[in-house]
Amino acid sequence: MNRLAVAATLAVLLVVLGVALAVTVPWTVLPGASPHVDVARDFTSAQVAREVAFHKAVRPPAYASLVLGLVVAGLLALTPLGGRIVALVGRGWVTQVLLGTVALTLIGRLVTLPLDAQSERVLRRYGLSTQTWGSWLVDALKGVAVASVMTAVVLLAALWLVRLAPRTWWAWAALVTAGFVMLGSFVYPLVVEPLFNSFSSLPAGQLRTDLLDMAARDGVPVKDVLVADASRRTTSLNAYVSGFGSTRRIVVYDTLVKTASPDEVELIVAHELGHAKRQDVLHGTVLGALGAAAGVCVLALLLSWTPLLRRAGAESVGDPRVIPLLLFLAAVGTLLLAPATNLVSRRIEARADVHSLDVTRDVPTFIASEKRLALTNLSDLDPNPVAYAFFSTHPTSPERIALAREWARLHR
Ligand SMILES: [Zn+2]
Repeated sequence: MNRLAVAATLAVLLVVLGVALAVTVPWTVLPGASPHVDVARDFTSAQVAREVAFHKAVRPPAYASLVLGLVVAGLLALTPLGGRIVALVGRGWVTQVLLGTVALTLIGRLVTLPLDAQSERVLRRYGLSTQTWGSWLVDALKGVAVASVMTAVVLLAALWLVRLAPRTWWAWAALVTAGFVMLGSFVYPLVVEPLFNSFSSLPAGQLRTDLLDMAARDGVPVKDVLVADASRRTTSLNAYVSGFGSTRRIVVYDTLVKTASPDEVELIVAHELGHAKRQDVLHGTVLGALGAAAGVCVLALLLSWTPLLRRAGAESVGDPRVIPLLLFLAAVGTLLLAPATNLVSRRIEARADVHSLDVTRDVPTFIASEKRLALTNLSDLDPNPVAYAFFSTHPTSPERIALAREWARLHR
């Protein structure tokens, strides 16, 4: 493998990614706005105290689970232990890749399960989870199954390429991984979402007619609005867009449809129409595919360093015993990149908020809805900078309310 070629390709990908981020991310969503965030204006001290107590209880097990997961993945990757497990599960390399990935994913999930159960207990204590332990465990198993199947397919393709083209595999693997990211995002709503929830069309009636009219006025072709049976798992309120092209769908939680006023549902769907209109899922997927291709180049460079391979107990990059190392490096990389991906996500969310205001022009409902969502979901109203950087995919509710007030001021 030509390290210089890998490094040059990586540099080109990073430049393309940098330009794409600079040009396509809505860094300014509301020109002329200078939002003033003021938690105390909209939330009482008792409401803040309840949310703070909830996060004090739920964060320690969640952080511990994250750290423990990484430590175990590191142990499996940087000692011969993980490689031995891969070698134990089968004889041929294909079997070792498939079953080895399943075994390692399962081990990673099992060691963190008690801590995740502790998080679930906190969610129940605060009335956020409606699950039984049975359905919680089934969800966890389905999660492992989905993760290990998707990872195994990518790893199988990558190791096959290493064996087929020992010198240029990294270039093909970068292309194939980017392709898998695109395909994965496209088929996700059809293949993965139905494993966890059932979806039904929003029933015919005034609300449905109003929502589809609003979408038509907005110039976003929407055939249907789907309702997910989220209430069998949670009391939290949410809506989202997933897929792109022919698999794009707007989904609203049944918890939201049951409790929200028609104005509130319209406002939330208008936010999702903003995502659909700007092709945010496709945009995020293309950025993700570029990032994944760059990630493969980084991995190729790291794996060309023989001492690292030796540590993992692998003889070459094509040796299935390299898998624990790949999983660990991917996990570390994903965590390190979280502040960047969340930063981009928050800008895109803010643009969808502005879109919902442009369409509905309903600032009072926006503010009331943000308050209700924050209180019901026990959102962190003023996260510490580290939690904000690593875990906040959306602006905080006080930030969203402040932006809405600026929208009102600029559109007076
Ligand atoms: Zn959104």
